Amino acid sequence: MRAAVEQRLIGPDQPVVGLLDVAGIRAAAAELWAAFNEVVAPGTPVLHAFAVKAASLVPVLRLLADEGIGCEVASPGELALARAAGVRPEHIVLDAPAKTTAELREAIELGIAVNADNPQELARLDALVRPRTGPGPALPPGPLGLRVNPQVGGGSIGALSTATATSKFGVALLDPGAREWVVNAFTKRPWLTRLHAHVGSQGCPLELMAAGVRATYELAEEINRTVGRQQIDTLDIGGGLPVNFASDEITPDYLDYALLLRDTVPGLFDGRYGLVTEFGRSLIAKSGTVLARVEYAKSAGGRPIAITHAGAQLATRTVFAPESWPLRVMAYDGEGVPKPTGPDGPVAQDVAGPCCFAGDLVAVDRPLPELQPGDLVALLDTGAYYVSNHFAYNSLPRPGIYGFSISGSGKNTRVRFAPVRSPQSLDEIVAESGGEHAGALSGL
Ligand SMILES: *Cc1c(COP(=O)(O)O)cnc(C)c1O
Repeated sequence: MRAAVEQRLIGPDQPVVGLLDVAGIRAAAAELWAAFNEVVAPGTPVLHAFAVKAASLVPVLRLLADEGIGCEVASPGELALARAAGVRPEHIVLDAPAKTTAELREAIELGIAVNADNPQELARLDALVRPRTGPGPALPPGPLGLRVNPQVGGGSIGALSTATATSKFGVALLDPGAREWVVNAFTKRPWLTRLHAHVGSQGCPLELMAAGVRATYELAEEINRTVGRQQIDTLDIGGGLPVNFASDEITPDYLDYALLLRDTVPGLFDGRYGLVTEFGRSLIAKSGTVLARVEYAKSAGGRPIAITHAGAQLATRTVFAPESWPLRVMAYDGEGVPKPTGPDGPVAQDVAGPCCFAGDLVAVDRPLPELQPGDLVALLDTGAYYVSNHFAYNSLPRPGIYGFSISGSGKNTRVRFAPVRSPQSLDEIVAESGGEHAGALSGL
């Protein structure tokens, strides 16, 4: 924090930034590899694909690619980011609930893996993979699969529970006739070689996720038995590992989950199936920090309120669903030094954002050292689904994001920053708000 102030990443004119710990991201990637290497049979093809929506930032995707991690994409924009980061097609998986025919065609032409969501999408794939008769060799498509919803139930956050009975994702496996339909769909399509399930996310116990993977594995076994060969050669088990937002501890970790999967679904790792994972939040949440200046400190109805520059525009989930997404807040002085608690102990305060609605609070009645104008607040564990998921309310600019690395120690500590995303300019805000069409309505 001190280095961010000294190197002027944050100050009166740049009152909010996102910081990403490069070593932390690398360490999470290494832990992911190590955990699954512990359980898979030697030689098993494994693709760990980062769910791009968790941090849709090209330099982050490149950093992860350097660590051997691919991308799970769910829109043309996310696919474009993965390609801009130089991620190879064979390391990209396309999952999305509303892919258009053009998007499916592009994916097949690029040779990236696609998981169809439903019978109608599978029918579109039928038309696209039919051997082409035109000039030139037909490109073999990348691996194609089907997403299923094992309907094992939800976690504590409804909006993030993907495997409830009525979830919108995949083919609902326990619905009458669905399982038979899926088995038959594979029998008729020798090119359909993967099953995909993503049972998450935040708020879901590991046992629930493992039960979803088990149901998916059992379906793959049934399909392969029915067709009499190993037609399904890869299982895509999705992401969804929850993150601990209450302390610095990483719990659960990838090894907890990998070992639980080995116990719950031993056949998954015996070498017959390739493995794809799609973790997002757990790869990056703990490596991100939002740092924001306190502009004013006021009081209303006896409640001290710090008005800061971090609110719903970047902590959208925390502001709108505070019970599900509480964040730790730390208080620093204007130099970036942790603020000591005053002689009377911590002061219960609201930490508010800059948006013009009353609920724009990232913490309510939170005991903290008393905040003053010019102080800084840090929102911890905000690497995933915060800085990169901007909400354009009040036309507030997207803040700059910087990666950092620390070397040396004591007096010789050196902190180096690199830009990940430039702060949005006012010209860019005008441009994305119809600036080029300024007179269009007056002329109608
Ligand atoms: C969002 C998503 C993920 C990643 O979920 P996390 O909870 O961030 O790990 C993986 N797969 C699919 C299909 C998703 O929609």
